Amino acid sequence: ASDPTLRAAPLPEDTDRALRPQVLEDFVGQAEARANLRIFIESARMRGEAMDHTLFHGPPGLGKTTLAQIMARELGVGFRMTSGPVLAKAGDLAAILTNLEPRDVLFIDEIHRLSPVVEEVLYPAMEDFALDLVIGEGPAARTVRIELQPFTLVGATTRLGLLTTPLRDRFGIPTRLQFYTEDELDLIVTRGARLLGVSSVPEGTREIARRARGTPRIAGRLLRRVVDFVTVEGDGCLTQEIADRALTRLGVDHLGLDGADRRYLMLLAEHYGGGPVGVETIAAALSEARDAIEEVIEPYLLQQGLIQRTPRGRMLAARAWRHIGLEAPKAPGQ
Ligand code: ADP
Repeated sequence: ASDPTLRAAPLPEDTDRALRPQVLEDFVGQAEARANLRIFIESARMRGEAMDHTLFHGPPGLGKTTLAQIMARELGVGFRMTSGPVLAKAGDLAAILTNLEPRDVLFIDEIHRLSPVVEEVLYPAMEDFALDLVIGEGPAARTVRIELQPFTLVGATTRLGLLTTPLRDRFGIPTRLQFYTEDELDLIVTRGARLLGVSSVPEGTREIARRARGTPRIAGRLLRRVVDFVTVEGDGCLTQEIADRALTRLGVDHLGLDGADRRYLMLLAEHYGGGPVGVETIAAALSEARDAIEEVIEPYLLQQGLIQRTPRGRMLAARAWRHIGLEAPKAPGQ
């Protein structure tokens, strides 16, 4: 009962929907991607055509799903959503594709996890808006082509490198999402606090922004937890003192690193003298999936200059040694 994350937790779906920006205008950050999308959306609308297929890539929680939904809304078309691992058979995708209305947006999350047979169905669908169905078996088998409505495929992936080249080449608009700056996250947190109905001071929202790991999803999650503290222990105002106390109790340190991040850094420091260590070794030692290490933990540590990737493995940077308060071993000859 003393776990603060469990106390007064609002329905996640409700607040998530409340905090999710609905129009491009309310979407903070990603200035370059946003400016480009605005042009492509406007152009598709003026020509009355389906917008070109779009690929969003970048770490989780940066707004890929949100942007896809905004695209559909601004294009004035329907939005359908599925994900790579869910589409087991070619027929699963065919069923979705044949049910699309003209110019709809079809969002496929984790598109790098599509099975090869499903991916084969996607190629002619993306290129010619057509399905090639195989009828019959053996020597009598023949292919029948079914026309589809023109649509926009929006793919999202945390791992661009795992996409096959033919699939990647079929996206006219590849867009990389970046970690957010502190200022951008501050805007998101300030807007979120207002939507959740708490008053805040600038130092309070700034404290959350600084410790949100460059990620709006984390900013939203931390904000909700801090609001719980404000509600129960504070006087209704989100101050820096309350934010700091709540975040520290949640195990989020001053750089925004959580327990998993620190375990990663400590492992490299204490067991491997700072590296280099291969990612497989790290995954085994931490009992984490390699994917989770590469998609969730490492991108932010790299961006913060806490680790380096070398051909022989991962290495701790000087900043990481300072952060965990340990002395880096002296290189030979020093
Ligand atoms: P992804 O699909 O990249 O994992 P989402 O689109 O699901 O990320 O976004 C995660 C959360 O962060 C959502 O709740 C969304 O409301 C919020 N969010 C993402 N980007 C922004 C943004 N630019 N401004 C405000 N909130 C955002």
